[in-house]
Amino acid sequence: MKKKSDKHPAAGENTASPAAGLFGDLPAPAPAPARKSGLLAFSYSKLSLYEECPLKYKFKYIDKIKEEPKYYFSLGSSIHTALEFLYAVKAPPFPSVEEVCEAFKRDWNLKSYLEKGYRTQQRSDDDFQKGVLMLRAYYEHNRARLAPPFLLEYSTDVEVDGLLVRIIADKIEYQGGGSVLVTDYKTGKDVKRAPTQLYMYQKITEMDPRLREKIAETYGHKVASVRIGGMLYYHVPSNKEYRFARADDREIGSFWERVLEAAESVRSQKFDPAPGERQCSWCDYKKLCPNFSGSGRMPQPARAADDPVETLVDRYGRLKERIDELQVQLNEVAEGIGRAAGSGGEYAGSQYTAKVKKNLKWEFKDREAVIGVLNQFELYQKALTLTLTGIVGVLESDALPEEARKKLLEQAVKKTVYEIKIAKKEGLI
Ligand code: SF4
Repeated sequence: MKKKSDKHPAAGENTASPAAGLFGDLPAPAPAPARKSGLLAFSYSKLSLYEECPLKYKFKYIDKIKEEPKYYFSLGSSIHTALEFLYAVKAPPFPSVEEVCEAFKRDWNLKSYLEKGYRTQQRSDDDFQKGVLMLRAYYEHNRARLAPPFLLEYSTDVEVDGLLVRIIADKIEYQGGGSVLVTDYKTGKDVKRAPTQLYMYQKITEMDPRLREKIAETYGHKVASVRIGGMLYYHVPSNKEYRFARADDREIGSFWERVLEAAESVRSQKFDPAPGERQCSWCDYKKLCPNFSGSGRMPQPARAADDPVETLVDRYGRLKERIDELQVQLNEVAEGIGRAAGSGGEYAGSQYTAKVKKNLKWEFKDREAVIGVLNQFELYQKALTLTLTGIVGVLESDALPEEARKKLLEQAVKKTVYEIKIAKKEGLI
C-alpha cells in the first residue's frame, strides 16, 4: 500500500536521469514520450497531472526532473506500509497494534526529516505521533473485521487502446462469482472525492487477464470475467468510508474519452503551461517555467482567445469539471460550518475569519404550479413580480385566503441556509 505511481515508474517509462537539476539550467529538449512496443505508459496520476498543467507533466514524466520531497506524501507512504504489514497474513492471527506501529516506525526512520520534506525535526516528530495515533484508531475501529484480503498492493499493467495503463490497488477483496471490491486508502484531507480515480480502477481491473488467473489460483475456480462489485475510499485519519457502486458504462465511456484525449495530447507533445494559483503555488518547476517571471508572482494564464476553438472547448470542459468538484467540496464545508455554528457566530482559523448567520429561506418546487395557484386566486397582481421575494410576500400576507396558502405551501419548502462572510486575516497576503 505504498503511495502509488510517484514511486513506481509505469512500465515502459523512460527512467534516464534528468538533463538538469531542479533549479539548474534548462533541460535538454524533451525526447519523445516513453513507449514500449508503441504503447504509451499511462496511469491515473499521469492523467491528473496532465490535466492540471501539461508543462508540469513534461517536467516530471518526460524530462524526469525530480520534485522536492513532500512531507504529506511521507506520512501517507509510511501509513500505507504499516497497513500493508497488518494485512500481509494468509490467515489470522494478525499482527498486534504494537507491531503495526513498529512497522510504521521502521519505515518512518528510513529517511531523515529533510529527506521526507520537513523543515524541522520537530514537525517530523509531530507527524510521527499523528501517524501512530491514526494507526491505533484504525486498528481499534477495524479490529473486529480484520480479514486477509485477496490481494494487497496489487499492481498491474494492461494494454488498452494503444496505452499501457498501470493501476496499483491498495487492497482487493474477492466476493465470489468474479466480483471484487477495491479499496483505496487516503491519508490526506477528508474531502469527499469525485470517483474518477475509481473509474480507472474499474476500467482496468475488469480488463485485466491476470486477475482472472489469480482468482483461479487462489480460489480454485475459473471465472469468465471480473466485475467490480464496489469501490471505496477509506479515509484513515477519520476512519470514514466513501463507498461507490460500480459506475455505469456511460460514465466509464466519458471518463475513458478524457483519458484518450490526454494521452493523444501527450503523444502530440502538447505541453503548454496551464498556470493557475492552485497548481503553480505547489509547483517545484517554477524556475524552469517560461510562464513564471521569477519575481515570485504567479504566471499569467495564456491568452485563451489565441487558442483554436477545439482547445478552448476541452479547456472549458476541464475547468467546468474542476468547478463542479470544488462546488461539492464547498457545499460540504459550508454545511460543516453551519452545523458547528448552530444559530450563528464568528469564527477564526489561522488565515481566515468567518461571520456565520443562520437564515430560513423559502424555495418553490414548481414555478408553473405556483403561477397556477396565483391565477386561481387572482393573486398574480399582488405578487407584483414573480420573484421569490414577491411570491413569499403573498404567502406570508395575513390577507391570503387559507385555501390559497395551503396550495402555495404544497409547492414550498423552507430550508435552513447559512450565510458565511469570509475575510482574510489582517497582515496575511
Ligand atoms: S509554474 Fe504553473 S504553469 Fe509553470 S509548470 Fe508549474 S504549474 Fe505549470
